[in-house]
Formats: sequence, structure tokens, C-alpha cells
Amino acid sequence: MFIIASLALCTFLTLNCSSKTNKSEVPWDVLARKDMVHSQLVVRGISDDGVINAMLKVERHRFVPKSLEKLAYGDYPLPIGEQQTISQPYIVALMTEELGLRASDRVLEIGTGSGYQAAVLALLVEEVYTIEIIQSLADSAAERLKRLGFDNVNVRCGDGFLGWPEASPFDAIIITCAPSEVPQPLVEQLDEGGRLIVPLGEDFQVLTLYEKRNGEMQKTEIAPVMFVPMKGMIEE
Ligand code: SAH
Repeated sequence: MFIIASLALCTFLTLNCSSKTNKSEVPWDVLARKDMVHSQLVVRGISDDGVINAMLKVERHRFVPKSLEKLAYGDYPLPIGEQQTISQPYIVALMTEELGLRASDRVLEIGTGSGYQAAVLALLVEEVYTIEIIQSLADSAAERLKRLGFDNVNVRCGDGFLGWPEASPFDAIIITCAPSEVPQPLVEQLDEGGRLIVPLGEDFQVLTLYEKRNGEMQKTEIAPVMFVPMKGMIEE
């Protein structure tokens, strides 16, 4: 199964850019999220109620540049500045579902970007820690998450390679940029029984899930994907 951004922008523009509300005055974004969840997520097998509810709730259009707001619910990634992208909604849902989260979990994300994935996680777990290497993105995501009321998300600017040792161990770790291998500090900061999901590889990546069992990382490959590369120490 290839999960690559579709470029059906024309269709989407026609369907979604006509007006702010429909006849029954339901806001356009509420309708767009419902449509996104059914036509992109449920049909592809996303079934976890918590994940579905979070995807229905988080206002994705607030996480993209204003000029792209009306494209926020399309079946593709979008640029968020600094040559980075917010992932396709399905990929966000799939990665979140694969983590098998519980309400009491503490989760680490590497690659804050817009903060959207962190916001989805924030509705599902107790505490989210997210690290972004580009200062301007870290600042704007922190401001946005605070403004939107996601009080259980902690944003830090830095190299995610090192993780967040003071807040470890984590029940789950999600890496939303692509490293060639899993950074060792992250393996160490994952709790026993915890799950780590990562797009692994350089030119070609495979979404890969690890489960830590008796200190060993058990690996399952899920699907081919496209992510921006992880930068910083991993390149050395
Ligand atoms: N999860 C994001 C999208 C991620 S895009 C969202 O929901 O919007 C990948 C992000 O990873 C980019 O913002 C990029 O700057 C960041 N990144 C790349 N290498 C990194 C590293 N070593 N540590 C932390 N963030 C990194």
C-alpha cells in the first residue's frame, strides 16, 4: 500500500472553498473534518474511537499558514514554512493508532513542526513532550498550542536525537522526521512495554513500529511513507 500525497487539489478546492458555512450553518471546518475522517481515515482502516474523536476535534486549519487554511483537510501534506511539512491526515491518524495509547501515558514526539500531531496526542494522553530543531517552528508551535488551550503539551527547541532525558521514561515515542536509524538515546528513554513509531530510511522510508520487550526492540514494518529527513546529530 503506497501512502503518498495525492494532488487532487482542484477537486478539493471546488468542494471546500465555496463558503464559510453550509445552509444549516454548520461551520465549514466541522464538515471538512467529518468528511476527512470518513473519506480518508475510516475507509483506510482507522478504527480507534479515541483517534477518530481527536481527528474530529483538532482544528487542523489552525496549524497551517493562513493562505492554506481551506486546504487543511485535504488528503495530502502541506508546507508549514522552513521547507517543512505537516503530514497527511491519514499518516497522523495511523501513527497515533499504532502507538496504542492509554489516557495515563506520557508521550515524546520528535519533530514538532506545526504542533498538529502533538495536539492530536494531547487529547489522548496525560502529557506530551515535543522537540523541534528549528527555532522559529518551535516558537510558533508553542504559541499556537498555548493559544488553543493544549496545556498538556511541552515544547522544546533542540535536537530530538538526544530526547528529553529529564522527562523520561516515555510510554510512547513518535518520530515525525526520518532518521536512517533510531537514535540510541530514544531507545533508552522508552519504557519497558513502550512503543516507538518512526519513518525509517533515507531516500525511501518505511513506517516502522518498535515494541520494547525485556529490553529488546521488536520491529514491525507497516508501510512505505515519505517524510522530511531528520537533521542534526543523526547526520554525523
Ligand atoms: N509533526 C509535525 C510535522 C513534522 S515535519 C506536525 O504535526 O506538523 C518534521 C519536523 O521535524 C520539521 O519541523 C523538522 O524541522 C523537524 N526535525 C528535523 N530533524 C529534527 C531533529 N533532529 N530534532 C527535532 N526536530 C527535527
